[in-house]
This record gives sequence, C-alpha cells and structure tokens, in this order.
Amino acid sequence: MNNTSDYELTPERIWSEFDGAPGGTSLESMCGELFSQQLFNWQEFALAHMNMKGAWLREITSGPHTLLVQFNQGRTVSATAALDADTIRRRPCFLCEYHLPAAQKAVLYRKSFLILVNPYPIFSPHYTVVHVNHEPQALEGQIVSLLALAHDLGPAFTVFYNGPRCGASAPDHHHFQVCPSGVLPIEKDWEEGGRATLLADRDGVSLGVLRLLGRNALFMEGSVPETLEAFLKRLLGAMEEVVGSGEEPMLNLFCTKKEGRWRLLIFPRRKHRPDAYYREGKDSVLVTPGAVEMGGLLITIREDDFLKMTPTLAEEIYREVSLPPEVIEEIANHMK
Ligand SMILES: [Zn+2]
Repeated sequence: MNNTSDYELTPERIWSEFDGAPGGTSLESMCGELFSQQLFNWQEFALAHMNMKGAWLREITSGPHTLLVQFNQGRTVSATAALDADTIRRRPCFLCEYHLPAAQKAVLYRKSFLILVNPYPIFSPHYTVVHVNHEPQALEGQIVSLLALAHDLGPAFTVFYNGPRCGASAPDHHHFQVCPSGVLPIEKDWEEGGRATLLADRDGVSLGVLRLLGRNALFMEGSVPETLEAFLKRLLGAMEEVVGSGEEPMLNLFCTKKEGRWRLLIFPRRKHRPDAYYREGKDSVLVTPGAVEMGGLLITIREDDFLKMTPTLAEEIYREVSLPPEVIEEIANHMK
C-alpha cells in the first residue's frame, strides 16, 4: 500500500486518520465514530439510513437453504446503473474525493483509502472503502490492502469486493465495501458444516468448495498474508486459464479475519445480470447480483419483486450468473 494520493485531499474531508501505529485508536472505533458523526451531521445520509432500517425484510427457505430478501428502494440507482464503457467515461465519478458531498467525511486509511459511510446503505453500518486515486476496480494489485483491511477492522466486520463486471457500480474507481459480520446467510451456511469440501491443504492454506443454493463458492483460509496473497493470485490465474476472458475473471469475494486466520469466500461468476432483469411485464425481476446477493441477501428495488421472490426464482438467478460447479472444480484442480 505505497500508492498514496496523486493530489491533495481536501483537509476538511478527513475526520480521522488510521495509520496502524501500535497503541493508537482501533479502526473499528474510528469507523464507529465516523458513522455517528455522519448520522448527526449529514441529513441525506441519516434519512437514507433510517429508510433502510425500516425496509421490509423476509426470509425464504428451501430445505437447508435460507435466503433473505430486502425491499430497498434506496438501491435503485446502484441496481439499475448503466455500466457500459461509454456511460462510465461520460459520467462524473461519484467515488472521486472532489465529487463527494461536502457533508461526507472520511477515515483516511493507511494513506491509500478513504473509508466512507455508504450513502445508500444495505447494512447498518455499511462502509465503502475507496482508493484515494481514480484507478480501475481490480483485485490483483490490491490483495495486500484487502487482507490488511480485514485484519485492521477485526472479526466484527467483513470486507467484500465486487468485480468490475459483476456488481461494482463504479468499475472505474477501485473500492471495497464493509458490512458487519454475521448478517449474511452464507456466514451461517459456512459455520454449519456439511456443505464444505476441503480440496487442498498446502503451505498453511486450505482451499475448498462450499455448496449453496444454485451456486458454489470457493473458500480459502490461512494465517500468513503472503501465502494467501500468492494463493489468491494463483486462483485468479487458474480462473483466467479455465474461463479465458482476457480480463479479470468475474468474481465476488468476502474476506474476514477471525482467531488469527483470514477466511475468504470467492464466488466465480459468468454473468452480471440475469435474463429476467431484461424481461418485460410480470416476468421481469430487477435484481442485479453482486457480493451481497451471492451472500444470500437479495436486494429488490420494487415491491413486486420483493413479494414474488421464491427460493426457486433465486436458485434460477444464481445458476444463471454463477460459474457451473464442474467449471469451479476444474479451476480448483488447476490450483492443486
Ligand atoms: Zn473516481
């Protein structure tokens, strides 16, 4: 993380700064203070947060599988954003520091990222961790930052990443997001056991598959950041070999650090939006799967979609946007 800002950050923007110095305030406390400050001093955010807290939420179950559905109109812009290269080039980047609203403050994180409250939250709290520079969303060069962030935030938080072609609404500006640990159904699925198959255990890193409704994920666990970084890079390489797109393989990822071990969950993807998104009339379903949806929390922006979501429909959407189990197995075999 030696890539500091290319330009002067507005000093008033910085609410506090985390540099990792021993004995300093924890990142969790700094983020908590930022969150309270923003609730008191940024009216639009307070309103968006209140609306989200009052959003309808329901549980849908199918056998051992449980999913959550949230009706959150605040996510409309993000869920329906046009993400073609032309549109992205023409619009002002909403993650660049000089475009943020004046009331929005940040925790400057290790001189490389701004931790912000997400102005259209899904969780309480929900942070966006934005690189200080306008550079494309890409994982490979930021794995060290991802692991450091999960370490610094501690077990109460989970960091997640949406690939530029599968969920990120700013594919042109690198960012992670953060949610509280334990709020997503997959976390329980993983803890429960019986769905995970260990495929390899080498150099202190375990790699395996987690079987979920309509989709499989790869998990990776280890306690040495350098080894995990190397494994994750190898995984990206193996995905690229198998899928061969020439770009960053499509994926969503979760990362948390608990009891000295980093735990990563990777959802290999093949499609951004399901066909149902583009259908008209009663067959249309406006769901844009990103990490949150792959994690078992489906965000709907229309009441109709909220009410009609069933495990069968969710399973169909998952199957369509995920890499099939046999391809994921092939990727895992490339890793052995
Ligand atoms: Zn930007």
